[in-house]
Amino acid sequence: MAEKTFTKNFTRQEPICEEGIEKALEILRTGKLHRYNVDSGEKGEAALLEEEFAAYMGKKYCLACASCGSAIYLALKALGVGPGDKVLCNAFTLAPVPGAIENSGADVELVEITDDYTVDLDDLIRKAAKAKWFLLSHMRGHIVNMDRVMEICRAHDLTLIEDAAHTMGASWDGMKSGAFGKVGCFSTQTYKHINSGEGGLLVTDDPEVISRATIHSGSYMLYDRHTSRPSTEVFEPLKTVVPSYSCRMDNLRAAILRPQLQMLDEQCARWNKRYRILEQGLNRIDGIACPKRDPREAYVGSSIQFSLIGRDEATIQAFLQSCMDLGVELKWFGNKDPVGFTSAYSSWKYIDELPSLPATDRILSTMCDMRVPLTFSEEDCQAIVEIIGSVALEILFD
Ligand SMILES: *Cc1c(COP(=O)(O)O)cnc(C)c1O
Repeated sequence: MAEKTFTKNFTRQEPICEEGIEKALEILRTGKLHRYNVDSGEKGEAALLEEEFAAYMGKKYCLACASCGSAIYLALKALGVGPGDKVLCNAFTLAPVPGAIENSGADVELVEITDDYTVDLDDLIRKAAKAKWFLLSHMRGHIVNMDRVMEICRAHDLTLIEDAAHTMGASWDGMKSGAFGKVGCFSTQTYKHINSGEGGLLVTDDPEVISRATIHSGSYMLYDRHTSRPSTEVFEPLKTVVPSYSCRMDNLRAAILRPQLQMLDEQCARWNKRYRILEQGLNRIDGIACPKRDPREAYVGSSIQFSLIGRDEATIQAFLQSCMDLGVELKWFGNKDPVGFTSAYSSWKYIDELPSLPATDRILSTMCDMRVPLTFSEEDCQAIVEIIGSVALEILFD
């Protein structure tokens, strides 16, 4: 094989921008890391981040919290989900999503996916009568037809919660992903679109939901230090009946996120340049197909998924290994034993009566996954396509 080995690291993100580092140092020098450790009348970094993210999303309120998983959990609790309830969720998602449902005491009802890796809306309709809640996870940034989702939710009286961990900065037909649901949840974990190591953001227009979520997050009686909130009267009847689950964000993380939020749209455009090179290149390789994307979907290509159409497990393993030998690190959703960050629903054995999902099984069994960190140049993406192309030629057509 003539291909040169690829030597860059698939998990290396760009450094935090200088402005973020400056702000972080400023906070460190004051020692005021806790979000409520502010002088009277002073707005802390966490409060400012909430104001700015709410404005970015076109939503009334935002709450910064410890992670996207905790944002989802807080959202479910704030909406009143609890034991005996069922929450619908697409089966192609990440482990913290069913985990948040389990944590709320409710049962997970998994919904099939389609060949474009998004939730199967016909299966959603079939299962809609079982539940009052639909937690839609835009897994790996694939956005389903949101017009139909909203119609189905209206017709079947489902409350929509969006897991937009992979769609921060993305939109459907001009409306931001995460703004459709009653609540939208985002991640600021290192591998998502803005990076504070760990962190989450929750947005909503509902005054009671944001008040409950804020108290749940651990505001004590200091909720008036939040500025992205309704009047304190809304909190009054709730403040002693809503338990604290202690999952706040601190000022240090918020400080490094604020300048990144200013650059988010620009960064998304850089991701998409890389994604399009990879998508075009991969689609030209025999045996490989990237999903078709709807023109209404303005996605953020911070990772790419493709299918090794009709290939069996042994062939896929050989393909992954040959790519790895040439420095191209791919994940595979069909692995019986989930590895790294790649999760398959069959490994969530705590779910009572794991359903049989033949379409999802078939689709995941050939689905590969690759991170596209912004430390990769456009030339790097071209080099990756060439490596995958040469491996495909050798392995897929033996
Ligand atoms: C990362 C991720 C989460 C969880 O985010 P954390 O901030 O790590 O809790 C949830 N859903 C999806 C689709 C993700 O990719």
